[in-house]
Amino acid sequence: MLDRQHAAQGPRMAESVLRVAVPSPLHRLFDYLPPRNAGGALAPGMRVQIPFGRGRSIGILVEVAQSTDIDPARLKPVQAVLDAAPILPEDILAMARWASDYYHHSLGEVLAGCLPVMLRRGQPLQPQGETVWRLTAAGCAAGPADFGRAVQQGRALQLLAAYPDGLTRVELTAAQIGAHILRALVGRGWVEAHLRTAAPRFSTGPDGAAAPRLNAAQADAVAAIQAAQGRYQAFLLDGVTGSGKTEVYLRAIAACVAQGKQALVVVPEIGLTPQLVGRFEERLGQTPVLLHSGLSEGERLNAWLAARAGDAAVIIGTRSAAWVPLARPGLFIVDEEHDPSLKQQEGFRYSARDLLVWRAHRDAAPIVLGSATPALESLHNARQGRYRHLSLPERAGAACAPRLRLLDIRNQTLDEGLAPALLAEMRGHLERDGQVLLFINRRGFAPTLLCHACGWVAECRRCDAHLTLHQRRQQLRCHHCGGQQRIPLQCPQCGCADLRPLGAGTERVEQALARQFPGISSVRIDRDSTRRKGRLEDLLAQAASGAARILLGTQMLAKGHHFPGVTLVGILEADQGLFSADFRAGERLAQQVIQVAGRAGRAERPGEVLIQTHHPQHPLLQQLVQAGYPAFAAAALAEREAAGLPPFSNLALLRAEATDARAPDQFLSDARDAVDAGLCAGLEFWGPVPSPMERRAGRFRGQLLLVARERRRLHRLLADWVPRLGALKTARKVRWSLDVDPIDLF
Ligand code: ADP
Ligand code: ZN
Ligand code: ZN
Repeated sequence: MLDRQHAAQGPRMAESVLRVAVPSPLHRLFDYLPPRNAGGALAPGMRVQIPFGRGRSIGILVEVAQSTDIDPARLKPVQAVLDAAPILPEDILAMARWASDYYHHSLGEVLAGCLPVMLRRGQPLQPQGETVWRLTAAGCAAGPADFGRAVQQGRALQLLAAYPDGLTRVELTAAQIGAHILRALVGRGWVEAHLRTAAPRFSTGPDGAAAPRLNAAQADAVAAIQAAQGRYQAFLLDGVTGSGKTEVYLRAIAACVAQGKQALVVVPEIGLTPQLVGRFEERLGQTPVLLHSGLSEGERLNAWLAARAGDAAVIIGTRSAAWVPLARPGLFIVDEEHDPSLKQQEGFRYSARDLLVWRAHRDAAPIVLGSATPALESLHNARQGRYRHLSLPERAGAACAPRLRLLDIRNQTLDEGLAPALLAEMRGHLERDGQVLLFINRRGFAPTLLCHACGWVAECRRCDAHLTLHQRRQQLRCHHCGGQQRIPLQCPQCGCADLRPLGAGTERVEQALARQFPGISSVRIDRDSTRRKGRLEDLLAQAASGAARILLGTQMLAKGHHFPGVTLVGILEADQGLFSADFRAGERLAQQVIQVAGRAGRAERPGEVLIQTHHPQHPLLQQLVQAGYPAFAAAALAEREAAGLPPFSNLALLRAEATDARAPDQFLSDARDAVDAGLCAGLEFWGPVPSPMERRAGRFRGQLLLVARERRRLHRLLADWVPRLGALKTARKVRWSLDVDPIDLF
């Protein structure tokens, strides 16, 4: 809480009105009076505790105003001011205001979402410690004579002597040292509890260890980024897989840190691997501060505070790290900038990439967006001159580009999804000591279960979707709502016992591998096999070291990893994306194929890629294999332009869902009718229509799409329209949300 004795004595604010952003969906600020005993100065960015509705809430003060639209006599005073100084700096507040306007989401929710949970709940701005036990000076001096027959105590002392930084309760318990032993040792004055906070100190680090000599393209990129230090410039670092993009980031970061400034790197969730962190650590001579969903609330708070205080020189995080305050922002990097996970898909739907571009501009710092398969939006921005295009056209070091081939599997007899020609290639590569990576974007044993007698297929009762068969756990599971049930012994429709798995997922391919390649070690990497903490790291280590010869997995395995021994990549199923209703499906497929293919031949030995397909003549696949991603992207951009789709138009999607099948359509129709006709020029409305998966988790879903050539017109309409939607009578019967720049239309 605020230490009032030390807070500066500010002007009396009795006449002022405090505008507070409260975490509520309402699109407005709430006015309050200053607290009765206001001592300190009040400034935007401080947390205040306020009466709200029937309870109370914690909001952020965003403005101290002199007037209000409400009768001042009806205003309530703030209950408490929680901070002595703003906890959010000016740039983050400004970004929140901009994001609230751009995404048409309530400022209170935007601001609450950008704080670590502990601060949202009102805890003070103090690092959280972890209690560890360590030896006192007397404990260090104690010898066998002192503890005599207390063997356990002796063992504990010995153990703690080996860990001068202390051990946590969990670590001690794991070493079979119980609470009673600890108590005894504390009682004798040999051991003490200590609050350990891992506080980083800003360090410019020693010179990069064992840095490779940059090639010409890398050197040009680094020079361009360095020349932009201290001002805004966005770069699209468009470099083929293995071209040394990470190397470029590392140089740019080192230069930024040497100037005493901080660098923030945002990566997709599954890209934040120990391998990446290790590489940063080794090369920058310091441990980056991490911000990701695997942290405890205390760890997250500490990392946030270290970034805000300027103690952390390098911060690596996932999407929400875009919001972390920096004392001295110097460089922003977004790796795999095309990745859909950079867009939040629920609640406040923002793009971390787009936010960071705005932030870099505001902070007058360069930003680098890196990818081997840039989003069409980013390529378009580069063509328009908004981003500077830096390209790394070749692989770094001795590696050369992998060779892609389509494998026609029409009329082939597949063994659990593996074609004979692929199996033969695998044998060849394994015999020559290569590693093989197989990619299939479906976990579980089979996408569904089929009755051979009557054609019944297992479907989720709550979704318009098949149930996935999970053989090992003997379950049918829905990958959309999480529902699960036992595998039926007979068909619920005809009673026949001949139920067969249809299609193949990772579990099933794993079985085939064990049969086809007995004695050859393999790892399977998907969400199911990596649920246990530390398991993913284990499996990735086996893959990287070469201990596992065959690597099988979903996209968890496909992105960003560097497996130098992989010489053959097999893509088992490329056809799903070819005929999807979503206009982005082609782009996603192309990105996925190129990213997976990029795992092959990353060291001296050349790589080969085989793509199994039933549509070997399909223009998209042909183009990708023959001309590569840039040619695909150029053609796709031309198509988008002709069709008036993004990036040549701007979209906003209004979604609604309800247990009542008719409610979404009623709400969306009312919403459409509520549009101010005067603002419709240059806009098209598509819908309302049922969502592609109409029923999900027992709720019916519908959507209304807005398309506008000019962003300005779209936002003018949304600003007028969205705040009024909540007041529609039919809004009460649905859950609705607005998605600006939606990346999928589900
Ligand atoms: P990307 O991020 O583009 O996939 P990386 O930066 O991971 O590429 O580089 C791929 C591999 O090439 C890494 O093992 C890296 O150490 C190596 N590498 C990068 N740049 C060079 C260079 N200039 N000379 C030699 N090896 C390099
Ligand atoms: Zn049947
Ligand atoms: Zn379901």
